[in-house]
Amino acid sequence: MKDRHVIRHILIIILILILLGFGAYKAGLIARLDDGEAHADLLAEAGEWQGFPFAYINNNVPEFKEDEIWTSVQESLDQLDSYGRAGTATACIGIETMPDGERGNIREIHPTGWRTDSYDFVYGNYLYNRCHLIGYQLTGDEAIDRNLITGTSYMNRDGMIPFENAVAIYVKETGNHVMYRVTPVFKGSELVARGVHIEALSVEDGGAGISFNVFCFNVQPGVDINYANGKNRLSEDDTLLVLWQEGYLNVYPKLDQKADNSSLKRIDAAEAESVHYVMNISSGKFHLDGCKSLNGANPWNLRKTFTSREDLIARGYTPCGVCDP
Ligand SMILES: [Zn+2]
Repeated sequence: MKDRHVIRHILIIILILILLGFGAYKAGLIARLDDGEAHADLLAEAGEWQGFPFAYINNNVPEFKEDEIWTSVQESLDQLDSYGRAGTATACIGIETMPDGERGNIREIHPTGWRTDSYDFVYGNYLYNRCHLIGYQLTGDEAIDRNLITGTSYMNRDGMIPFENAVAIYVKETGNHVMYRVTPVFKGSELVARGVHIEALSVEDGGAGISFNVFCFNVQPGVDINYANGKNRLSEDDTLLVLWQEGYLNVYPKLDQKADNSSLKRIDAAEAESVHYVMNISSGKFHLDGCKSLNGANPWNLRKTFTSREDLIARGYTPCGVCDP
């Protein structure tokens, strides 16, 4: 009799442990640990950002298993994890999933790490966009928190949208379907993703039309991001490489290769050497590079320029009295 009691107790304890484990899995606690390893592998494969918006993963071959290729339109969005972060978004996209109208308001959603900082050299000014994992144009998902992350303007515009467009054009032209899977890749407990992993495969033609596997970097040239909380600041990286925009130079980090952004003109190191003036956009003064009165200035307010003295004055800037530029 005693033994049977003990066995029953043990069985009950085992059952409770299984239920607790399942609960933890549902809450994203266990899944996150597994994801953490997969994410570390992916980040290692993607490597450091080299100035190009994306890196190829697995030689650009998507990694859908046979039973992960759906033959009719459907969508699956992971639950938010215990930090409130979005997980993988998967969809079989067809012409029937695409919205007719314009996207509505998604401002009510604040993805993890969300902030509204802006820089004048960032496209659209705001550093962060509410980035759809699966773009609105593909499935018509609007304000769904499981499909939105905090992503840089650069990742959204230069990294993700060209891939979304390729899928949308293919689906519209052929009427075929595309398996599409987007996973935000977080490091540890960070609230801002390091990037998004995007895989796509056209279904009816077995990938002849659409087939890619990429990692888009969640970076912004010229801005240093604290991925733990989304805080950010003008990059302190060397200013060897600078880009020209609307008459002013904007300082970008030193890189081997730059994004191809047609609104910006790349200048080479020799040209950068010829930069003469530093504008303080707060004081409205301009200085010689190295002026000692720049020593306590807020670096966020400084812009290097090779605009002429006359041009700066015409733009309302006044020469500094110390360095007399
Ligand atoms: Zn000065």
